Amino acid sequence: DLMPLTRALISVSDKTGLVDFAQALAARGVEILSTGGTALALRKAGLHVTDVADVTGFPEMMDGRVKTLHPKVHGGLLALRDNQEHLAAMQAHDIAPIDLLVVNLYPFEDTVAKGADYDTCIENIDIGGPAMIRAAAKNHAFVTTVVDVADYHTLLAELDAHDDCTGLAFRKRLAQIAYARTAAYDAAVSTWMAGAIGTETPRRRAFAGTLAQTMRYGENPHQKAAFYHDGSARPGVATATQHQGKELSYNNINDTDAAFELVAEFDPAQGPACAIIKHANPCGVATGATLAEAYSRAFDCDRTSAFGGIVALNQTLDAETAAEIVKIFTEVVIAPEATDAAKEVFAAKKNLRLLTTGALPDPKAARIAWRQVAGGFLVQDHDIANVTAADLKVVTKRVPTEDEIRDLLFAWTVAKHVKSNAIVYAKGGTTVGVGAGQMSRVDSALIAAKKAERMAEAMGLPESPAKGSAVASDAFFPFADGLLEAVAAGATCVIQPGGSMRDDEVIKAADEAGLAMVLTGQRHFRH
Ligand code: 5GP
Repeated sequence: DLMPLTRALISVSDKTGLVDFAQALAARGVEILSTGGTALALRKAGLHVTDVADVTGFPEMMDGRVKTLHPKVHGGLLALRDNQEHLAAMQAHDIAPIDLLVVNLYPFEDTVAKGADYDTCIENIDIGGPAMIRAAAKNHAFVTTVVDVADYHTLLAELDAHDDCTGLAFRKRLAQIAYARTAAYDAAVSTWMAGAIGTETPRRRAFAGTLAQTMRYGENPHQKAAFYHDGSARPGVATATQHQGKELSYNNINDTDAAFELVAEFDPAQGPACAIIKHANPCGVATGATLAEAYSRAFDCDRTSAFGGIVALNQTLDAETAAEIVKIFTEVVIAPEATDAAKEVFAAKKNLRLLTTGALPDPKAARIAWRQVAGGFLVQDHDIANVTAADLKVVTKRVPTEDEIRDLLFAWTVAKHVKSNAIVYAKGGTTVGVGAGQMSRVDSALIAAKKAERMAEAMGLPESPAKGSAVASDAFFPFADGLLEAVAAGATCVIQPGGSMRDDEVIKAADEAGLAMVLTGQRHFRH
Protein backbone atom coordinates (compact mmCIF):
# COMPACT_ATOMS: atom_id res chain seq x y z
CA ASP A 1 0.00 0.00 0.00
CA LEU A 2 2.96 2.35 -0.37
CA MET A 3 2.58 4.90 -3.16
CA PRO A 4 5.48 6.93 -4.57
CA LEU A 5 4.95 10.59 -5.43
CA THR A 6 5.84 11.58 -8.96
CA ARG A 7 3.35 14.34 -9.78
CA ALA A 8 1.73 16.90 -7.47
CA LEU A 9 -0.90 19.53 -8.11
CA ILE A 10 -0.54 22.49 -5.78
CA SER A 11 -3.24 25.19 -5.74
CA VAL A 12 -3.37 27.23 -2.57
CA SER A 13 -4.85 30.54 -1.48
CA ASP A 14 -2.95 30.61 1.82
CA LYS A 15 0.64 30.54 0.65
CA THR A 16 2.13 30.12 4.15
CA GLY A 17 5.00 27.61 4.09
CA LEU A 18 4.37 26.96 0.39
CA VAL A 19 7.86 27.59 -0.99
CA ASP A 20 9.71 25.48 1.61
CA PHE A 21 7.24 22.66 1.18
CA ALA A 22 7.40 22.74 -2.64
CA GLN A 23 11.19 22.85 -2.50
CA ALA A 24 11.19 19.74 -0.30
CA LEU A 25 8.93 17.99 -2.82
CA ALA A 26 11.05 19.08 -5.79
CA ALA A 27 14.14 17.81 -4.01
CA ARG A 28 12.46 14.41 -3.93
CA GLY A 29 11.96 14.56 -7.68
CA VAL A 30 8.26 15.38 -7.63
CA GLU A 31 6.93 17.25 -10.68
CA ILE A 32 4.76 20.23 -9.67
CA LEU A 33 1.62 21.46 -11.47
CA SER A 34 0.11 24.72 -10.30
CA THR A 35 -2.56 27.34 -10.83
CA GLY A 36 -1.87 31.04 -11.55
CA GLY A 37 -1.01 32.65 -8.25
CA THR A 38 0.57 29.56 -6.78
CA ALA A 39 2.74 29.00 -9.88
CA LEU A 40 3.84 32.64 -9.74
CA ALA A 41 4.91 32.34 -6.10
CA LEU A 42 6.83 29.13 -6.79
CA ARG A 43 8.59 30.47 -9.89
CA LYS A 44 9.63 33.57 -7.95
CA ALA A 45 11.37 31.20 -5.55
CA GLY A 46 13.17 29.61 -8.50
CA LEU A 47 11.13 26.42 -8.69
CA HIS A 48 10.26 24.68 -11.94
CA VAL A 49 6.47 24.53 -12.30
CA THR A 50 4.03 23.33 -14.99
CA ASP A 51 0.92 25.50 -15.45
CA VAL A 52 -2.38 23.65 -15.12
CA ALA A 53 -3.51 25.68 -18.13
CA ASP A 54 -0.81 23.93 -20.20
CA VAL A 55 -2.10 20.56 -19.00
CA THR A 56 -5.77 21.26 -19.74
CA GLY A 57 -5.23 23.30 -22.90
CA PHE A 58 -7.61 25.92 -21.48
CA PRO A 59 -6.64 29.22 -19.89
CA GLU A 60 -7.92 30.05 -16.44
CA MET A 61 -11.12 31.96 -17.13
CA MET A 62 -14.13 33.76 -15.69
CA ASP A 63 -12.23 35.44 -12.85
CA GLY A 64 -10.71 32.09 -11.87
CA ARG A 65 -14.08 30.41 -11.52
CA VAL A 66 -12.84 27.82 -14.04
CA LYS A 67 -9.21 26.79 -13.61
CA THR A 68 -8.89 23.13 -12.82
CA LEU A 69 -12.34 21.81 -13.71
CA HIS A 70 -11.16 19.57 -16.54
CA PRO A 71 -10.91 15.81 -17.25
CA LYS A 72 -7.14 16.08 -17.50
CA VAL A 73 -7.09 17.14 -13.88
CA HIS A 74 -10.00 15.13 -12.48
CA GLY A 75 -9.11 12.04 -14.53
CA GLY A 76 -5.57 12.26 -13.17
CA LEU A 77 -6.91 12.43 -9.61
CA LEU A 78 -9.71 9.85 -9.91
CA ALA A 79 -8.30 7.08 -12.11
CA LEU A 80 -7.83 3.76 -10.36
CA ARG A 81 -4.23 2.85 -10.98
CA ASP A 82 -4.97 -0.90 -10.95
CA ASN A 83 -8.00 -0.84 -13.26
CA GLN A 84 -7.34 -1.72 -16.93
CA GLU A 85 -10.26 0.33 -18.22
CA HIS A 86 -9.18 3.38 -16.25
CA LEU A 87 -5.63 2.98 -17.48
CA ALA A 88 -6.86 2.62 -21.05
CA ALA A 89 -8.94 5.79 -20.70
CA MET A 90 -5.93 7.65 -19.38
CA GLN A 91 -3.90 6.49 -22.34
CA ALA A 92 -6.64 7.26 -24.89
CA HIS A 93 -7.15 10.81 -23.59
CA ASP A 94 -3.56 11.56 -22.68
CA ILE A 95 -4.27 11.92 -18.97
CA ALA A 96 -1.30 11.70 -16.61
CA PRO A 97 -1.80 10.55 -13.00
CA ILE A 98 -1.65 13.08 -10.13
CA ASP A 99 -0.44 11.40 -6.91
CA LEU A 100 -0.52 14.33 -4.56
CA LEU A 101 -3.07 17.13 -4.26
CA VAL A 102 -2.26 20.15 -2.14
CA VAL A 103 -5.15 22.61 -1.93
CA ASN A 104 -6.32 25.17 0.53
CA LEU A 105 -9.50 26.92 -0.39
CA TYR A 106 -10.47 30.52 -1.12
CA PRO A 107 -10.71 32.14 2.32
CA PHE A 108 -14.51 32.15 2.46
CA GLU A 109 -14.78 32.13 6.27
CA ASP A 110 -12.23 34.96 6.65
CA THR A 111 -14.02 37.00 3.98
CA VAL A 112 -17.31 36.68 5.89
CA ALA A 113 -15.62 37.45 9.21
CA LYS A 114 -14.19 40.65 7.71
CA GLY A 115 -17.75 41.78 6.95
CA ALA A 116 -17.39 41.72 3.16
CA ASP A 117 -20.41 42.51 0.98
CA TYR A 118 -22.63 39.85 -0.55
CA ASP A 119 -20.96 39.70 -3.97
CA THR A 120 -17.47 39.51 -2.48
CA CYS A 121 -18.54 36.60 -0.28
CA ILE A 122 -20.06 34.83 -3.29
CA GLU A 123 -16.87 35.31 -5.30
CA ASN A 124 -14.94 33.72 -2.43
CA ILE A 125 -16.82 30.44 -2.70
CA ASP A 126 -14.20 28.06 -4.07
CA ILE A 127 -15.55 25.60 -6.62
CA GLY A 128 -12.63 23.86 -8.28
CA GLY A 129 -10.74 23.43 -5.00
CA PRO A 130 -13.42 21.38 -3.19
CA ALA A 131 -14.05 19.40 -6.40
CA MET A 132 -10.38 18.39 -6.54
CA ILE A 133 -10.21 17.71 -2.80
CA ARG A 134 -13.23 15.42 -2.94
CA ALA A 135 -11.86 13.63 -6.00
CA ALA A 136 -8.40 13.06 -4.53
CA ALA A 137 -9.76 12.01 -1.15
CA LYS A 138 -12.13 9.52 -2.77
CA ASN A 139 -9.15 7.99 -4.56
CA HIS A 140 -7.05 7.77 -1.38
CA ALA A 141 -6.17 4.20 -2.32
CA PHE A 142 -3.61 5.89 -4.59
CA VAL A 143 -3.68 9.64 -4.01
CA THR A 144 -2.51 11.77 -1.09
CA THR A 145 -4.61 14.87 -0.21
CA VAL A 146 -3.30 17.79 1.84
CA VAL A 147 -5.77 20.56 2.73
CA ASP A 148 -4.08 22.03 5.78
CA VAL A 149 -0.79 23.93 5.91
CA ALA A 150 -0.17 22.15 9.23
CA ASP A 151 0.07 18.85 7.35
CA TYR A 152 3.01 19.90 5.11
CA HIS A 153 5.46 18.68 7.71
CA THR A 154 3.32 15.60 8.45
CA LEU A 155 3.61 14.58 4.80
CA LEU A 156 7.34 15.21 4.64
CA ALA A 157 7.80 13.10 7.78
CA GLU A 158 5.75 10.33 6.17
CA LEU A 159 7.94 10.46 3.05
CA ASP A 160 11.08 10.34 5.20
CA ALA A 161 9.76 7.31 7.02
CA HIS A 162 8.74 5.38 3.89
CA ASP A 163 11.41 5.94 1.29
CA ASP A 164 9.56 8.84 -0.40
CA CYS A 165 6.25 6.94 -0.43
CA THR A 166 3.01 7.40 1.51
CA GLY A 167 1.25 4.56 3.32
CA LEU A 168 -2.44 3.73 2.95
CA ALA A 169 -3.30 4.44 6.60
CA PHE A 170 -1.73 7.88 6.22
CA ARG A 171 -3.66 8.62 3.02
CA LYS A 172 -6.91 7.51 4.67
CA ARG A 173 -6.34 9.84 7.60
CA LEU A 174 -5.67 12.76 5.25
CA ALA A 175 -8.79 11.86 3.22
CA GLN A 176 -10.89 11.96 6.38
CA ILE A 177 -9.47 15.41 7.19
CA ALA A 178 -10.13 16.50 3.60
CA TYR A 179 -13.84 15.65 3.79
CA ALA A 180 -14.09 17.40 7.17
CA ARG A 181 -12.76 20.50 5.43
CA THR A 182 -15.12 20.45 2.43
CA ALA A 183 -18.11 19.69 4.68
CA ALA A 184 -17.21 22.56 7.02
CA TYR A 185 -16.67 24.84 4.03
CA ASP A 186 -20.11 24.27 2.55
CA ALA A 187 -21.71 24.50 6.00
CA ALA A 188 -20.03 27.90 6.42
CA VAL A 189 -21.48 29.01 3.09
CA SER A 190 -24.96 27.83 4.08
CA THR A 191 -24.75 29.46 7.52
CA TRP A 192 -23.59 32.74 6.03
CA MET A 193 -26.35 32.67 3.41
CA ALA A 194 -29.00 31.98 6.03
CA GLY A 195 -27.93 35.17 7.80
CA ALA A 196 -27.51 37.17 4.58
CA ILE A 197 -30.97 36.37 3.25
CA GLY A 198 -32.62 36.46 6.65
CA THR A 199 -33.76 32.87 7.11
CA GLU A 200 -32.46 32.28 10.61
CA THR A 201 -34.51 29.16 11.06
CA PRO A 202 -33.47 25.90 12.68
CA ARG A 203 -34.83 24.00 9.70
CA ARG A 204 -32.56 22.68 6.93
CA ARG A 205 -29.30 23.83 8.40
CA ALA A 206 -25.84 22.28 8.41
CA PHE A 207 -23.48 22.54 11.37
CA ALA A 208 -19.77 22.74 11.13
CA GLY A 209 -16.92 24.96 12.09
CA THR A 210 -13.22 25.54 11.69
CA LEU A 211 -10.87 24.02 14.21
CA ALA A 212 -9.58 26.97 16.24
CA GLN A 213 -7.95 25.41 19.29
CA THR A 214 -7.10 21.97 20.57
CA MET A 215 -7.12 21.74 24.34
CA ARG A 216 -5.22 19.62 26.77
CA TYR A 217 -8.55 18.29 27.97
CA GLY A 218 -12.29 18.84 28.02
CA GLU A 219 -14.80 19.17 30.82
CA ASN A 220 -12.73 16.57 32.71
CA PRO A 221 -9.05 15.69 32.40
CA HIS A 222 -9.75 12.31 30.77
CA GLN A 223 -11.70 13.91 27.90
CA LYS A 224 -9.97 15.21 24.76
CA ALA A 225 -11.39 18.48 23.48
CA ALA A 226 -11.23 21.16 20.80
CA PHE A 227 -12.83 24.53 20.05
CA TYR A 228 -14.40 25.18 16.63
CA HIS A 229 -15.35 28.59 15.34
CA ASP A 230 -18.47 28.82 13.21
CA GLY A 231 -17.38 31.95 11.39
CA SER A 232 -19.97 34.19 13.02
CA ALA A 233 -18.91 37.77 13.58
CA ARG A 234 -20.79 37.93 16.91
CA PRO A 235 -18.58 39.59 19.53
CA GLY A 236 -17.83 36.96 22.16
CA VAL A 237 -15.41 34.36 23.39
CA ALA A 238 -14.73 32.96 19.89
CA THR A 239 -13.78 36.32 18.38
CA ALA A 240 -12.18 37.94 21.45
CA THR A 241 -8.58 39.12 21.72
CA GLN A 242 -6.73 37.59 24.67
CA HIS A 243 -4.28 40.03 26.27
CA GLN A 244 -2.70 37.84 28.92
CA GLY A 245 -2.88 34.56 30.79
CA LYS A 246 -2.69 30.94 29.60
CA GLU A 247 -4.96 29.43 26.98
CA LEU A 248 -8.63 29.20 27.83
CA SER A 249 -9.80 25.75 28.90
CA TYR A 250 -12.98 24.03 27.77
CA ASN A 251 -14.83 25.08 30.95
CA ASN A 252 -13.42 28.62 30.72
CA ILE A 253 -14.84 29.02 27.22
CA ASN A 254 -18.24 27.68 28.22
CA ASP A 255 -18.45 29.88 31.31
CA THR A 256 -17.06 32.97 29.60
CA ASP A 257 -19.73 32.65 26.94
CA ALA A 258 -22.47 32.40 29.59
CA ALA A 259 -21.05 35.44 31.41
CA PHE A 260 -20.75 37.67 28.35
CA GLU A 261 -24.14 36.74 26.92
CA LEU A 262 -25.73 37.59 30.27
CA VAL A 263 -24.00 40.94 30.75
CA ALA A 264 -24.81 41.91 27.14
CA GLU A 265 -28.49 42.01 28.17
CA PHE A 266 -27.63 45.23 30.00
CA ASP A 267 -27.40 48.13 27.57
CA PRO A 268 -24.19 50.05 28.42
CA ALA A 269 -26.05 53.30 27.68
CA GLN A 270 -28.25 52.54 30.70
CA GLY A 271 -25.20 52.20 32.95
CA PRO A 272 -22.50 49.74 34.01
CA ALA A 273 -23.28 46.08 34.73
CA CYS A 274 -21.28 43.07 35.83
CA ALA A 275 -21.96 39.33 35.86
CA ILE A 276 -19.87 36.78 37.74
CA ILE A 277 -20.31 33.20 36.55
CA LYS A 278 -19.46 29.81 38.01
CA HIS A 279 -20.33 26.56 36.25
CA ALA A 280 -22.34 28.50 33.65
CA ASN A 281 -24.65 29.99 36.32
CA PRO A 282 -24.46 33.53 37.69
CA CYS A 283 -23.36 33.76 41.32
CA GLY A 284 -23.83 37.52 41.20
CA VAL A 285 -25.12 40.11 38.74
CA ALA A 286 -25.34 43.82 39.46
CA THR A 287 -25.63 47.28 38.03
CA GLY A 288 -23.91 50.25 39.65
CA ALA A 289 -23.14 53.95 39.40
CA THR A 290 -19.63 52.96 38.30
CA LEU A 291 -18.29 49.73 36.83
CA ALA A 292 -16.26 49.15 39.98
CA GLU A 293 -19.43 49.45 42.04
CA ALA A 294 -21.29 47.05 39.75
CA TYR A 295 -18.44 44.53 40.19
CA SER A 296 -18.33 44.92 43.97
CA ARG A 297 -22.07 44.48 44.28
CA ALA A 298 -22.06 41.40 42.04
CA PHE A 299 -19.20 40.02 44.13
CA ASP A 300 -21.01 40.73 47.41
CA CYS A 301 -24.00 38.64 46.31
CA ASP A 302 -22.04 35.42 46.80
CA ARG A 303 -18.45 36.06 47.84
CA THR A 304 -17.74 32.38 48.41
CA SER A 305 -18.86 31.20 44.96
CA ALA A 306 -17.26 34.14 43.13
CA PHE A 307 -13.79 32.75 43.94
CA GLY A 308 -12.28 31.40 40.71
CA GLY A 309 -15.16 32.81 38.70
CA ILE A 310 -15.53 34.44 35.31
CA VAL A 311 -16.25 38.17 35.29
CA ALA A 312 -18.08 39.84 32.40
CA LEU A 313 -18.52 43.60 32.06
CA ASN A 314 -20.74 45.59 29.72
CA GLN A 315 -18.40 48.60 29.54
CA THR A 316 -14.70 49.33 29.16
CA LEU A 317 -12.70 47.80 31.99
CA ASP A 318 -11.07 50.66 33.89
CA ALA A 319 -8.21 50.63 36.40
CA GLU A 320 -10.50 51.11 39.39
CA THR A 321 -12.57 48.04 38.50
CA ALA A 322 -9.43 46.07 37.65
CA ALA A 323 -8.02 46.88 41.10
CA GLU A 324 -11.19 45.48 42.72
CA ILE A 325 -11.13 42.32 40.59
CA VAL A 326 -7.52 41.38 41.39
CA LYS A 327 -8.30 41.26 45.12
CA ILE A 328 -9.51 37.69 44.69
CA PHE A 329 -8.61 34.82 42.34
CA THR A 330 -10.53 35.16 39.07
CA GLU A 331 -10.10 32.90 36.02
CA VAL A 332 -11.22 35.16 33.17
CA VAL A 333 -12.36 38.76 32.68
CA ILE A 334 -14.20 39.64 29.47
CA ALA A 335 -15.20 43.17 28.46
CA PRO A 336 -15.77 45.12 25.25
CA GLU A 337 -12.55 47.08 25.87
CA ALA A 338 -9.92 47.63 28.56
CA THR A 339 -7.95 50.81 29.29
CA ASP A 340 -4.15 50.68 29.32
CA ALA A 341 -4.21 51.46 33.03
CA ALA A 342 -6.51 48.49 33.64
CA LYS A 343 -4.20 46.25 31.63
CA GLU A 344 -1.30 47.41 33.78
CA VAL A 345 -3.18 46.44 36.95
CA PHE A 346 -3.81 42.97 35.51
CA ALA A 347 -0.23 42.53 34.30
CA ALA A 348 0.82 41.67 37.83
CA LYS A 349 -1.58 38.70 37.82
CA LYS A 350 0.02 36.45 35.22
CA ASN A 351 -2.63 33.73 35.34
CA LEU A 352 -5.62 36.02 34.97
CA ARG A 353 -6.93 35.92 31.40
CA LEU A 354 -8.17 39.20 29.97
CA LEU A 355 -10.36 39.11 26.86
CA THR A 356 -11.69 42.08 24.91
CA THR A 357 -14.22 41.82 22.12
CA GLY A 358 -14.46 45.35 20.70
CA ALA A 359 -18.23 45.39 21.22
CA LEU A 360 -21.10 43.72 23.03
CA PRO A 361 -23.16 41.10 21.18
CA ASP A 362 -26.72 42.10 20.26
CA PRO A 363 -28.92 40.10 22.65
CA LYS A 364 -31.82 40.42 20.20
CA ALA A 365 -29.99 39.17 17.10
CA ALA A 366 -31.59 35.97 15.80
CA ARG A 367 -29.35 32.91 15.80
CA ILE A 368 -29.47 29.17 16.14
CA ALA A 369 -28.72 27.11 19.24
CA TRP A 370 -27.89 23.44 19.04
CA ARG A 371 -26.84 20.64 21.33
CA GLN A 372 -26.03 17.02 20.90
CA VAL A 373 -27.99 14.02 22.09
CA ALA A 374 -27.11 10.39 21.39
CA GLY A 375 -27.85 9.88 17.72
CA GLY A 376 -28.59 13.46 16.78
CA PHE A 377 -28.70 17.18 17.32
CA LEU A 378 -31.41 19.31 18.81
CA VAL A 379 -31.71 22.64 17.05
CA GLN A 380 -33.75 25.66 18.02
CA ASP A 381 -33.87 29.43 17.80
CA HIS A 382 -31.74 31.03 20.47
CA ASP A 383 -33.82 32.43 23.33
CA ILE A 384 -33.72 36.11 22.41
CA ALA A 385 -37.07 37.00 23.94
CA ASN A 386 -37.33 39.58 26.69
CA VAL A 387 -40.06 41.74 28.14
CA THR A 388 -40.41 45.44 28.94
CA ALA A 389 -42.55 47.12 31.59
CA ALA A 390 -45.33 47.54 29.01
CA ASP A 391 -45.60 43.74 28.54
CA LEU A 392 -46.24 43.01 32.22
CA LYS A 393 -49.71 42.05 33.38
CA VAL A 394 -50.46 42.87 37.02
CA VAL A 395 -52.66 40.14 38.54
CA THR A 396 -52.65 41.08 42.24
CA LYS A 397 -54.57 43.71 44.16
CA ARG A 398 -51.33 45.50 44.89
CA VAL A 399 -49.62 47.11 41.89
CA PRO A 400 -45.80 47.12 41.94
CA THR A 401 -44.07 50.46 42.51
CA GLU A 402 -41.69 51.86 39.89
CA ASP A 403 -38.68 50.67 41.90
CA GLU A 404 -40.23 47.23 42.17
CA ILE A 405 -40.83 47.10 38.40
CA ARG A 406 -37.17 47.93 37.82
CA ASP A 407 -36.05 45.13 40.13
CA LEU A 408 -38.59 42.70 38.69
CA LEU A 409 -37.30 43.27 35.16
CA PHE A 410 -33.71 43.01 36.38
CA ALA A 411 -34.41 39.72 38.19
CA TRP A 412 -36.29 38.41 35.13
CA THR A 413 -33.37 39.16 32.81
CA VAL A 414 -30.96 37.37 35.13
CA ALA A 415 -33.33 34.40 35.57
CA LYS A 416 -33.30 33.91 31.79
CA HIS A 417 -29.59 33.06 32.12
CA VAL A 418 -29.90 30.75 35.13
CA LYS A 419 -30.30 27.00 34.62
CA SER A 420 -33.84 25.84 35.38
CA ASN A 421 -35.48 25.71 37.77
CA ALA A 422 -34.38 29.30 38.35
CA ILE A 423 -35.37 31.57 41.22
CA VAL A 424 -33.67 34.96 41.50
CA TYR A 425 -34.06 37.51 44.30
CA ALA A 426 -32.96 41.04 43.45
CA LYS A 427 -33.00 44.43 45.12
CA GLY A 428 -31.76 47.80 43.92
CA GLY A 429 -30.32 46.46 40.66
CA THR A 430 -28.35 43.61 42.19
CA THR A 431 -29.02 39.94 42.73
CA VAL A 432 -29.16 38.98 46.40
CA GLY A 433 -29.93 35.27 46.00
CA VAL A 434 -29.78 32.91 43.00
CA GLY A 435 -31.25 29.40 43.08
CA ALA A 436 -30.20 27.39 40.02
CA GLY A 437 -30.62 24.01 38.41
CA GLN A 438 -32.86 22.29 40.95
CA MET A 439 -35.38 19.67 39.94
CA SER A 440 -38.02 21.38 42.11
CA ARG A 441 -38.90 25.07 42.03
CA VAL A 442 -39.42 25.08 45.81
CA ASP A 443 -35.82 23.87 46.30
CA SER A 444 -34.52 26.63 44.01
CA ALA A 445 -36.48 29.20 46.08
CA LEU A 446 -35.06 27.76 49.31
CA ILE A 447 -31.50 27.77 48.01
CA ALA A 448 -31.83 31.36 46.74
CA ALA A 449 -33.17 32.44 50.15
CA LYS A 450 -30.34 30.59 51.92
CA LYS A 451 -27.81 32.40 49.73
CA ALA A 452 -29.38 35.73 50.67
CA GLU A 453 -28.97 34.83 54.37
CA ARG A 454 -25.32 33.93 53.76
CA MET A 455 -24.85 37.27 52.03
CA ALA A 456 -26.23 38.99 55.15
CA GLU A 457 -23.79 37.02 57.36
CA ALA A 458 -20.78 37.69 55.10
CA MET A 459 -21.51 41.41 54.96
CA GLY A 460 -22.76 41.85 58.52
CA LEU A 461 -26.17 43.05 57.35
CA PRO A 462 -28.90 43.35 60.02
CA GLU A 463 -31.29 41.18 57.99
CA SER A 464 -31.50 39.04 54.88
CA PRO A 465 -31.31 41.22 51.74
CA ALA A 466 -34.15 39.10 50.36
CA LYS A 467 -36.38 41.17 52.69
CA GLY A 468 -38.13 43.67 50.44
CA SER A 469 -36.72 42.05 47.30
CA ALA A 470 -38.22 41.25 43.90
CA VAL A 471 -38.31 37.60 42.95
CA ALA A 472 -38.26 36.09 39.45
CA SER A 473 -39.26 32.56 38.54
CA ASP A 474 -38.21 31.39 35.05
CA ALA A 475 -41.40 29.33 34.67
CA PHE A 476 -44.80 29.38 36.34
CA PHE A 477 -45.41 28.24 39.92
CA PRO A 478 -47.29 24.94 39.54
CA PHE A 479 -48.50 25.29 43.16
CA ALA A 480 -48.52 28.11 45.68
CA ASP A 481 -45.72 26.44 47.71
CA GLY A 482 -42.84 27.96 45.71
CA LEU A 483 -44.38 31.40 46.01
CA LEU A 484 -44.87 30.93 49.74
CA GLU A 485 -41.13 30.21 50.11
CA ALA A 486 -40.46 33.55 48.45
CA VAL A 487 -42.89 35.22 50.82
CA ALA A 488 -41.11 33.58 53.75
CA ALA A 489 -37.78 34.89 52.44
CA GLY A 490 -39.24 38.41 52.47
CA ALA A 491 -39.91 39.12 48.78
CA THR A 492 -42.56 41.80 48.21
CA CYS A 493 -43.10 41.39 44.46
CA VAL A 494 -43.01 38.57 41.94
CA ILE A 495 -42.43 38.19 38.22
CA GLN A 496 -43.29 34.91 36.51
CA PRO A 497 -44.80 33.72 33.22
CA GLY A 498 -48.17 32.59 34.60
CA GLY A 499 -50.16 29.96 32.76
CA SER A 500 -50.39 27.30 35.46
CA MET A 501 -53.66 25.41 35.95
CA ARG A 502 -53.50 26.74 39.51
CA ASP A 503 -52.73 30.40 38.67
CA ASP A 504 -55.81 31.37 40.73
CA GLU A 505 -54.40 29.59 43.79
CA VAL A 506 -51.02 31.27 43.29
CA ILE A 507 -52.58 34.73 42.79
CA LYS A 508 -54.73 34.23 45.90
CA ALA A 509 -51.65 33.34 47.97
CA ALA A 510 -49.88 36.44 46.64
CA ASP A 511 -52.83 38.67 47.52
CA GLU A 512 -53.04 37.20 51.01
CA ALA A 513 -49.35 37.97 51.55
CA GLY A 514 -49.80 41.51 50.20
CA LEU A 515 -47.46 40.85 47.24
CA ALA A 516 -47.53 42.58 43.92
CA MET A 517 -47.29 40.01 41.11
CA VAL A 518 -46.83 40.48 37.37
CA LEU A 519 -47.06 37.90 34.60
CA THR A 520 -44.82 37.95 31.52
CA GLY A 521 -46.67 35.36 29.44
CA GLN A 522 -43.24 34.06 28.44
CA ARG A 523 -40.98 31.55 30.12
CA HIS A 524 -37.22 31.09 30.03
CA PHE A 525 -36.42 27.43 30.54
CA ARG A 526 -32.69 26.85 30.22
CA HIS A 527 -31.26 23.38 30.69
P1 5GP B 1 -3.99 30.67 -7.27
O1 5GP B 1 -3.53 31.56 -6.14
O2 5GP B 1 -3.02 29.54 -7.49
O3 5GP B 1 -4.26 31.44 -8.54
O4 5GP B 1 -5.39 30.02 -6.86
C1 5GP B 1 -5.44 29.06 -5.85
C2 5GP B 1 -6.87 28.85 -5.41
O5 5GP B 1 -7.70 28.52 -6.53
C3 5GP B 1 -7.00 27.69 -4.45
O6 5GP B 1 -7.65 28.17 -3.27
C4 5GP B 1 -7.86 26.67 -5.18
O7 5GP B 1 -8.70 25.95 -4.29
C5 5GP B 1 -8.62 27.51 -6.15
N1 5GP B 1 -9.04 26.82 -7.37
C6 5GP B 1 -8.37 25.89 -8.06
N2 5GP B 1 -9.08 25.52 -9.17
C7 5GP B 1 -10.24 26.24 -9.16
C8 5GP B 1 -11.36 26.30 -10.05
O8 5GP B 1 -11.46 25.61 -11.07
N3 5GP B 1 -12.37 27.15 -9.69
C9 5GP B 1 -12.30 27.91 -8.57
N4 5GP B 1 -13.32 28.73 -8.27
N5 5GP B 1 -11.24 27.89 -7.74
C10 5GP B 1 -10.21 27.05 -8.04
